[in-house]
Amino acid sequence: MDCIFCKIVDGSIKGDIVYENDDVVAFRDLNAQAPHHILIIPRKHIATVNDFTAEDASIFGQLGQAAKQIAGDLGVAENGYRLVLNCNDDGGQTVYHTHMHFLAGRTFTWPPG
Ligand code: 5GP
Ligand code: ZN
Repeated sequence: MDCIFCKIVDGSIKGDIVYENDDVVAFRDLNAQAPHHILIIPRKHIATVNDFTAEDASIFGQLGQAAKQIAGDLGVAENGYRLVLNCNDDGGQTVYHTHMHFLAGRTFTWPPG
């Protein structure tokens, strides 16, 4: 399978990793949209949110726990941050290995574009 994020997980492509545990890996986005733009991904290849099974339910919790940890480590928990999961074309997904965007370091607007 030719998945760029699986290659970052297995180390064959270098990622700027800021956090990892047995289930998830977090690394800086190559094309940052904020002072801190980090992608939090499951080690397991799951193409989109539509492909999560009941067995994978705990992975959502892991992504959230990692976001909380990263926010604390970066010192942005108090000011705030945005978490985004894009799914398929209308959601703006371009890499088909599910990832949570962690964005921080500036004020974001709502609604999103
Ligand atoms: P999506 O549009 O699928 O929600 O987000 C994909 C994200 O992955 C984009 O923000 C893009 O900049 C980032 N990205 C794409 N290829 C790479 C890569 O090889 N390394 C890293 N670190 N980020 C990538
Ligand atoms: Zn993958």
